[in-house]
Amino acid sequence: MKKLILLSFLITTSCVEISKKEVAQPKFGLVIHGGAGTILRKNMTLEKEEKYRAVLTEAIQVGYGILKKGGSSQEAVEKTINIMEDSPLFNAGKGAVLNSNASIELDASFMEGKSLGAGAISGVKTVKNPISAAIKVMEASPHVMLSGSGADAFANEQGLEIVSPEYFLTERRINALKEVQKASSISKTNHKYQSNDFINQQRYGTVGCVALDIFGNLAAGTSTGGMTNKKWNRIGDAPIIGAGTYANNATCAISSTGWGEFFIRTVVAHDISALMEYKKLSIQDAAYEVIHNKVAKLGGDGGVIGIDTKGNMMMEMNTPGMYRAKMDASGKLEVKIYEDE
Ligand code: ASP
Repeated sequence: MKKLILLSFLITTSCVEISKKEVAQPKFGLVIHGGAGTILRKNMTLEKEEKYRAVLTEAIQVGYGILKKGGSSQEAVEKTINIMEDSPLFNAGKGAVLNSNASIELDASFMEGKSLGAGAISGVKTVKNPISAAIKVMEASPHVMLSGSGADAFANEQGLEIVSPEYFLTERRINALKEVQKASSISKTNHKYQSNDFINQQRYGTVGCVALDIFGNLAAGTSTGGMTNKKWNRIGDAPIIGAGTYANNATCAISSTGWGEFFIRTVVAHDISALMEYKKLSIQDAAYEVIHNKVAKLGGDGGVIGIDTKGNMMMEMNTPGMYRAKMDASGKLEVKIYEDE
């Protein structure tokens, strides 16, 4: 009898120990992307690849450090994206692509899953870190989306760092615009504008981040220069809540990258969340359905990243590559470029 009591005491105390450990190790994690597109090994050098992997690693580690210390998913998303915006490698902030007038118009959006609060800016020309301006729209204005010179003025009033439009320019993107304009005038006469691979190749580099913090709060953000040679103040999916960015604590946080016109029409980020909410699909199955059965069937291409409330992470694409990385609470890091990695 005594033995039985001792045994049940031991079992009870070890169960308490296990549940203590579970409480002591809350789930958190984050996923990032640096754009999806025709990223092929044959067009890549080892040196270039290493540069991309290094910035992706640096960026995700900043976000991981914030989450590990108990920081919010909002802060992790903002600071992680800031690193990629400041890198000339990506099509966001410095190094963004040029529009048809050889100037740069930046789009960004942010959403938090707890309150469904959101903010977005489009067509800004002087805000060094557009994702920070999108967050300010959510926090300090009664609106969700600001555009053009008004958005620039708002960011200035809020004390965000303002730079001259030349700050964003890089030689690589100036050359890309020239090439795309040449190629698009040829393909327009051949009526092949929509399927020009070269034009598509010049697009990638949009950045995004999704995060789950130890409090169970999700957040998502996306920042981009849009598409090379875009005209007439074109706005893509990146600043559109529900298309480029979506977060809901009931389901997931999503950031998209790809051919914006298709991502807007298929409302990609919200559609993934809706499939989870109404059809109880997993984040992976929901993303597969939207990218391969909706976007692809319309003729669009691109990718998405996501994280759900349990910390399950997803990176899905229908392009040959997507710059991407993920990191879970244990610190396990994966950095990938090609689809088949
Ligand atoms: N989605 C962006 C846009 O259409 C571009 C990209 O992600 O590559 O503006």
